[in-house]
Amino acid sequence: MRISRHQLKKLVESFLSEKKSTTKVKCPKCGTVNEAGIDKCKNCKHDYDSKFDGRSWTEVKNENRLYHLFEQAAKFICPKPAKSVELNTVNRDRGIKASHIKYGPLNLNDEDYWKEYAKKWGTTAEVAKKSNCGNCVAFDISPQMKDCMPGDTSDGEGHLGYCWMHHFKCHSARTCNTWAKGGPIKEDEKSTDWFEGAKDAALFNRSHKKYLERKENE
Ligand code: SF4
Ligand SMILES: [Zn+2]
Repeated sequence: MRISRHQLKKLVESFLSEKKSTTKVKCPKCGTVNEAGIDKCKNCKHDYDSKFDGRSWTEVKNENRLYHLFEQAAKFICPKPAKSVELNTVNRDRGIKASHIKYGPLNLNDEDYWKEYAKKWGTTAEVAKKSNCGNCVAFDISPQMKDCMPGDTSDGEGHLGYCWMHHFKCHSARTCNTWAKGGPIKEDEKSTDWFEGAKDAALFNRSHKKYLERKENE
């Protein structure tokens, strides 16, 4: 699991606030579990500052704390292809070749690509160009996703984002046959929802194609 420093900082902060809000204390005299920060036991009024029969107040571990933390951490895990050049390349090449995807065009001025794409929508190339990754429902440019993508993510023609449908970094000015309106994904919360929905694929160590094959055989 690789997380960025920014994500780690958020994780530590949430750990600290979680710890503060969920730690409970057990009375050494009557065994009642009290909220943290009390002066006396709510049951027997035993003083928080004193021991009883040589026994001290003890902290009660919140069973759910680790689970919560795990959930928090899961939010910050990056999809593997966003971090791995190799996985990203394999998935992108599949996106270019697969006839139901046809990600492109490689050269943004490739009018033939746009004409072909426009046919699918029964419109002109100029109009078709406006249905691109940049406004696709699966295009993730949330702050947490930006943290997942090392290096420069924009050029003169647009910017990169993560495609939750085909699992590679795609470019806002390009498009594909499975484009759907409703994007881009700008908020961390929405990004996490997509992560939850596509977690298995996003964390799979091999190509998206292999992932789909495995799913089919299950
Ligand atoms: S599904 Fe959307 S974001 Fe992914 S490559 Fe196609 S147009 Fe781009
Ligand atoms: Zn007590």
